[in-house]
Amino acid sequence: MRHRFLMCPPTHYRVEYSINAWMEGNRDRARTELAEREWNALYALLSEHADIDLLDAVPDLPDLTFAGCAGLVVGGTAYLSRFRFPERRSEEPYWRRAFEERGLSVVEMPPDVVFEGAADAVMPHGTGPVWLGYGFRTDLEAGDFLARRLGCEVVPLKLADERFFQLSMCFATLEGGYLLYYPGAFDSRSLREIERRVPPEHRYAVNERDALTLCCSCVETNGAVLLARASAEIERVLGGWGKRAIATDLREFMLAGGAARCLTLRLDEPPPAASTAGEARTVSRATVAFRSGLSPALVLEDANELSARTGVEIELLPGTRSRHQAFAVEVRGPDDETLESVLRELAGRGGMTSFPFSIEARLEEVDQDGVAPLGFYGTTIFATEVFHGGRWLRAARQRMDAVLVVDPAARTVRCSLIRDLRRGERVVVGHDGVRTVLPPGRQAESEESEAFSFMSSQASTERRAETAVESIAWEMQRLKSEGSRIVFVAGPVVIHTGGGPYLEKLIAAGYVSALLGGNAIAVHDIENSIYGTSLGVNLKRGTPMRGGHMHHISVINEVRRHGSIEKAVRAGYVRSGIFRTLVECGVPFSLAGSIRDDGPLPDTIMDLIEAQRDYARLLEGAGMIVMLSSMLHSIGVGNMTPAGVRLVCVDINVAVATKLADRGSVDSTPVVTDVGLFLNLLWRRLSEGQG
Ligand code: NAD
Repeated sequence: MRHRFLMCPPTHYRVEYSINAWMEGNRDRARTELAEREWNALYALLSEHADIDLLDAVPDLPDLTFAGCAGLVVGGTAYLSRFRFPERRSEEPYWRRAFEERGLSVVEMPPDVVFEGAADAVMPHGTGPVWLGYGFRTDLEAGDFLARRLGCEVVPLKLADERFFQLSMCFATLEGGYLLYYPGAFDSRSLREIERRVPPEHRYAVNERDALTLCCSCVETNGAVLLARASAEIERVLGGWGKRAIATDLREFMLAGGAARCLTLRLDEPPPAASTAGEARTVSRATVAFRSGLSPALVLEDANELSARTGVEIELLPGTRSRHQAFAVEVRGPDDETLESVLRELAGRGGMTSFPFSIEARLEEVDQDGVAPLGFYGTTIFATEVFHGGRWLRAARQRMDAVLVVDPAARTVRCSLIRDLRRGERVVVGHDGVRTVLPPGRQAESEESEAFSFMSSQASTERRAETAVESIAWEMQRLKSEGSRIVFVAGPVVIHTGGGPYLEKLIAAGYVSALLGGNAIAVHDIENSIYGTSLGVNLKRGTPMRGGHMHHISVINEVRRHGSIEKAVRAGYVRSGIFRTLVECGVPFSLAGSIRDDGPLPDTIMDLIEAQRDYARLLEGAGMIVMLSSMLHSIGVGNMTPAGVRLVCVDINVAVATKLADRGSVDSTPVVTDVGLFLNLLWRRLSEGQG
């Protein structure tokens, strides 16, 4: 049987404008005469196997020769294209007339839906669905419309490579249910659809080289496959399917991204096999609202990333664009399943206030002490809420690397370390019904990232310590007057650099709510108190003392004799220094052990799990943490601390200060300076005006 095609000679064909990646750089390079020769050759070959109707060329419509984009003709109806680009919109009346003159009933797409005909809608040529490419020239909604009109299944495929901006450039169905396609042109969901629906022996994935010869833009009629170029491999594949590849040069049209399929339009496609109405849907959509205070730009940025991965389209609904007002977005997906998974992911990023699905968090019971169920949700430093029993519950004891334990009876949620889990506890699994609540500063930071990164999260060696101290001191005074807790973490360098006396003054003045450190700071502080040395070096003169190497172990020995630092202070053995002041002022401290500890002092907690617990106890409710030259203990503390707590990280090493402060939020300040100098400046600033 001879098929029927429509073609339009390239009398006025030129590359006059640039509306796709191929045209880029090819403006005015197409030679009309050569194009006519190539087109005539294609016409001659095709007319050997098929009947061809001709449309007259029209001046000023250079792309009219691409008849394949004019519409989709199926079962006597022409679904007229609505071109995305104004450059091609003026072709529409000519195509409408061409269809009407051939006795076809013409149907238009719904208002505002763009559609580029058979270039994006590919018929099955055997059993199977109609395939619709979207993303560049055709809207997803066109699939819905076609599915309803044709009463068949339409499978949307998201085009992800702008070089293949229409489906027929990278996807060709051939008689007998065969398929040539270029996988690199699709997103992963679409590839899964193709692989699920077309058996492997019926499809061939062309490589990029062949794809770029536009071998998929081919026309088949009576076993002959006409295409611009056929590599030996393509010839072999088509031969294996019982078809004959016939190559005909179409180089001039390829300058505009067109080839055989694009130059021809089938007029006698039979209606596809009908399917159930349920299957006919191609667009799933939902509208979701976000709270005020969030930036629509940030939500859309997340959305773009999701869109590239899943094929959904996300659009900000008109009305609001400022981050101070609530706003809504419409999410459109190729199927309900994809839509829901994207919405859940968006919800998990926080700020969503309306949910078109059940968002109850999934809980699973712990069946082995200290082991979380598979798929558990791991927390971050950001405040987290869990949707349980119909409402959002804020997790207590927020920290990173924990799991969320829900107590359904008490309707509470808390963060728990995996090792602390007990059988029967109920742990959140998956991301459903979990959202993180970013501190308001995080949004502002992302929006005005440059200003903020300069001001806060980037360590600047040039920044003078005084400037940083100024704002830290101001914040400390504010927190102190509010009754908020300020926790200090300190390493032994504080003593070596002569910072001890200033830290003492801060403790005595009520700026230190707790001190966290290791064995060394206490050993060196007490050594300094007893001998005036730190590791045997006289701190005033900076010179080693005879026998000084014994000082620190003698001190450890004496404190051990007393039983604890507190007892050594109370007994009058330790008469000055940071630890005496802590004891006298009743300020709690915690010393965590390490492998390099001498002694250790009786107060040093060598059971690390116990030490972590003790640190966590003293960190509870802190409004600010000042980390002074101890990488080990500061990192440990950082891991336990939720976002929103102001961190000040003082270290002489830029890399350490930055690492400690780098928490993706504006609430941390790295200060790159000598810790002794820092404490001196800080105390000077805080004591100003105190007489
Ligand atoms: P650390 O290496 O984790 O951190 C020290 C930090 O101080 C480094 O980041 C460094 O860049 C910074 N630093 C050095 N000089 C500085 C200066 N002048 N100003 C500002 N920052 C400066 O070491 P740590 O926290 O001191 O010790 C790690 C562990 O080892 C702790 O548990 C500690 O108690 C233990 N330790 C024990 C003994 C002992 O028992 N005798 C001695 C030393 C350390």
